[in-house]
Amino acid sequence: MSEQISEWSTAVLDLMQESVVLLDCKARIVHWNAAAQALYGRCIDDVRGLRIDAVLQTRGGPLLDASDAAGKLDGWQGDVQRIAANGTDVTVRLRCTVRHDRDGAALDIVETGVDITAQKQAEDALRRTEHRYFNLYQAAAVSFWELDFSVVAAKVRNLASLGVKDLRTYFSAHPEFVHELIKATRVLDVNDQCVRMFGRGDKNELLGDLSRFWPLHSYRVFAESVIAAFSGMPGYAAEASFVTLRGDHVDTWFTSSFSPDMLARGKILVGIIDLSASKAAMSALFASEQRYRKLFQFVPVSLIQIDRAELANHFAALRAQGVTDLAKHIEATPGFVDMALNSIRIVEVNWKTVELFGAHDAAELLGPVARLWTESRDTFQHSMQTVYNGGASFQGEIRIRTFTGQVVDVLYVTDFPEAAREPALGLACLVDISERVRAQQALAKTQAEFAHAARVSVLGELTASIVHEVNQPLCAVLSNAEAALRWIDRPEPNLGEVRTLSTRIIRDVSRAAEIVQRIRALAGGKEPERLPVELNRMIEEVMVFLSPELARQDVQATLELDPQQPCVLGDRVQLQQVLVNMAVNAIHAMASRGSGARRLVIRTRNDRLSLVRVELEDTGPGIAADHLDHLFKSFFTTKADGMGIGLAICRSIIDAHGGRITAENLAAPGGARFSFSLPACA
Ligand code: ADP
Repeated sequence: MSEQISEWSTAVLDLMQESVVLLDCKARIVHWNAAAQALYGRCIDDVRGLRIDAVLQTRGGPLLDASDAAGKLDGWQGDVQRIAANGTDVTVRLRCTVRHDRDGAALDIVETGVDITAQKQAEDALRRTEHRYFNLYQAAAVSFWELDFSVVAAKVRNLASLGVKDLRTYFSAHPEFVHELIKATRVLDVNDQCVRMFGRGDKNELLGDLSRFWPLHSYRVFAESVIAAFSGMPGYAAEASFVTLRGDHVDTWFTSSFSPDMLARGKILVGIIDLSASKAAMSALFASEQRYRKLFQFVPVSLIQIDRAELANHFAALRAQGVTDLAKHIEATPGFVDMALNSIRIVEVNWKTVELFGAHDAAELLGPVARLWTESRDTFQHSMQTVYNGGASFQGEIRIRTFTGQVVDVLYVTDFPEAAREPALGLACLVDISERVRAQQALAKTQAEFAHAARVSVLGELTASIVHEVNQPLCAVLSNAEAALRWIDRPEPNLGEVRTLSTRIIRDVSRAAEIVQRIRALAGGKEPERLPVELNRMIEEVMVFLSPELARQDVQATLELDPQQPCVLGDRVQLQQVLVNMAVNAIHAMASRGSGARRLVIRTRNDRLSLVRVELEDTGPGIAADHLDHLFKSFFTTKADGMGIGLAICRSIIDAHGGRITAENLAAPGGARFSFSLPACA
């Protein structure tokens, strides 16, 4: 067929802007023009004789095969996608015609096409955008209204022609005119959210008269919106309340936008967001905040709001430097405690705190905590260690000095929100326990007096029994010695009698010594019980008993208890007596020293597998070297009012338990260590 196309025809076809393709009955390419070559990127010589669907991978249209389709299809037009030589997709608007000979047999197919790729892409993009906006419009939590504003616009323009210049003044003088404008506004379209918010399920119900939704008291919002529209502003927004078709009121955030092309068509777009839920949440929050404030202010316990952010940052920096033991760091850093006390700030206090400190008002107490925390610095250090080690709260008894100079015992409780990585704004609570402490101290004093009285009476009894029991052999010794002297003083001394008397004297002295031995055994108490005793538990019990005395003498006690302690077999009460005796001695030794830190450490450890050891270390004056050998002897004392039987009793108890008791001096910074070891329970 190609030979049927003359050169002249080819030249004419090449002048055409449309692509022209000539196909035979089998849809094989016979010729295509220059526009087709440009569109598909192939030269006719490369494609001649090939089926067009194979060359261009046509999608979207029927494959015109004139031989089979001749009867059915004379032509076709529509858009198809094809792939050009460089692999790009092209969209072509085709028009195909099947040509027939005089007998009606199919001759060939002529296809003309226009490249609409760019147009198609633009259309698709537009469709996608529209779809997106439509979805947004429908799904948004905003209720959208399209309003017909044309009558309003006309009425307002009419005002101008009547000489009204200031719309705001006019509207506030004529609110009925604004109502007229509201009535003249028509709802043209609304989205789904609007139906949910204002309607009863049927969108059509919402269309039409706007005044059904616009209560009288919201007329100002309408008026301002109109003023904004006519003063060329792009939009207007305000809080407004509306009425729904269900009859309820909703608090909303109202926005109207005046796009010039919409305004020109007499339309405006309004968006309304429901604020009722957030308003209710806000007012609930406000109410709970108010409740909390009231509670904070009026609760009859001292409450203090503390900002520890600066210290928290400091601690974070220390951790980053690898500091794990804060106590050690504090010891090595002079001024650390003062720095910490100055970095913590009191931001709020309640009336009870003002009263506790004897201040005039709350403001006097605000600022760095250093001004208020002048006593019990050890406890402050402990609380810092607690938060540093990740503790969530701390509780301890401290002393505060009030503005009137009084020292008050208080229970200090605080939380550390920073432990939960929350802002370091903590709450501290102070409870005045001075009454309780006074009562405890009185009790402890009475206990001490009783103990003293008991010791005196024990001694009295001992003395009486010593006198009673020892008197007799002593009298015998005396009379025998006197008789012996008389036998010796004779002109003829009778040595036989002297021997007999001396033998008696030895017998009586031995008896007296036996009696003393018996009395000492008595002082050690009754035959001890033999039950398993957990020393760590026992020490903790003793601490409860000792705590008033420790507090009274300002002694800081630390327990270093080996958790792997085996039990011992013994008499719990007697062993407690030993511990109390040694601890009270240590407390008094430290008190006698006057100045210096008062620290008592009670430690347990396993000396060997079979021995359990308890040690008490103090920071007192220690023991004079020449006293060390006498401490455990009865009646050895260096105290003006001492009896010197405490340690003797301790020794007899420990001896009776098959253990050993020792005393020694500590190297720097001085002080004494009393220890006893007992056989571990098998
Ligand atoms: P008392 O307490 O009545 O003096 P003790 O037998 O309990 O009787 O103590 C004997 C002496 O041992 C005390 O007077 C004191 O000199 C000395 N002593 C006991 N404990 C300590 C101690 N922790 N530090 C220094 N000396 C101590």
